[in-house]
Order: sequence, then C-alpha cells, then structure tokens
Amino acid sequence: MQSVSHPRVFAAGDVAAYATAMPKSGVYAVKAGPVLAENLRAVCEGRAPLSWTPQQRALHLISTGNLNALALWGRWSIGGGWVWNWKDRIDRGFIRRFDTDA
Ligand SMILES: Cc1cc2nc3c(=O)[nH]c(=O)nc-3n(C[C@H](O)[C@H](O)[C@H](O)COP(=O)(O)OP(=O)(O)OC[C@H]3O[C@@H](n4cnc5c(N)ncnc54)[C@H](O)[C@@H]3O)c2cc1C
Repeated sequence: MQSVSHPRVFAAGDVAAYATAMPKSGVYAVKAGPVLAENLRAVCEGRAPLSWTPQQRALHLISTGNLNALALWGRWSIGGGWVWNWKDRIDRGFIRRFDTDA
C-alpha cells in the first residue's frame, strides 16, 4: 500500500495500482481499508507497516440490469434473477452494518 516512488504516499482501493494487477472491485477495497488505517498509524508511530497480500481470487457479483446479475468465480460464470437476489441480500446486509439508527 506504500507508493514505490513516494514512500510517504499510501493508497488502497480503486485509486491504487498494485504490483500484481487486480480488478477494481469493492471486494479488495473493503478488505484493504483496515490494513491501510493500521499502516498509517504504524508509520506515524515509527513502526513498520504490515504487508498486505490481496486474496488471489474473489467472487464477483455483477448486476446486468432488469433484476439480473452474473456471478464470476475464476473462469466460471453463471447468471440469472436468483444471482441478483443473492447480490441484493449481500449488498443490503453490508449497508445495514453502517446503519447508526439500528
Ligand atoms: C456502477 C458500478 C458498480 C459496481 N458494482 C460493484 C459490485 O457489485 N461489487 C464490487 O465489489 N464492486 C463494485 N464496483 C466497484 C466498487 O464500487 C469500487 O471498487 C469501490 O467503490 C472502490 O472503493 P474506493 O473506496 O477505493 O473508491 P470509491 O468508492 O470511489 O471512493 C472514493 C471516494 O472519494 C471521494 N473523492 C474523490 N475525489 C475526492 C477529493 N478530491 N476529495 C475528497 N473526496 C474525494 C469520492 O467522492 C468517493 O466517495 C462497482 C463500480 C461501479 C462504478
């Protein structure tokens, strides 16, 4: 997460280009966030930053409109309304975690 050219610059998520090319995906951005936060704290306190190895493979659920979606896992893909429902449940569950009124 530390820039190879500017060591005082850290990045994660879509704005970062990693040595190993990865798709720009919320899956990676969400998991990188806490590590980035810890690394910023570490550097400010003079500790060594943690290394971070993104998972090799991630499940991608991509909405294709009309309440349909595709599920991609490596070279495999499957689509349909049930995938959209699955994705919708996951997305709503994720957003609910930030609901401060609950
Ligand atoms: C249409 C669409 C659908 C997607 N669907 C999925 C999906 O189903 N699953 C999935 O995993 N990923 C999905 N993605 C990808 C996912 O949205 C991104 O990978 C993820 O949001 C990246 O998170 P991030 O925090 O790096 O960047 P972002 O979520 O883009 O956050 C960056 C934030 O910085 C703010 N910002 C920009 N410039 C400034 C500035 N100068 N000052 C202050 N703030 C600024 C922006 O307003 C934004 O809020 C989708 C992307 C798109 C476009």
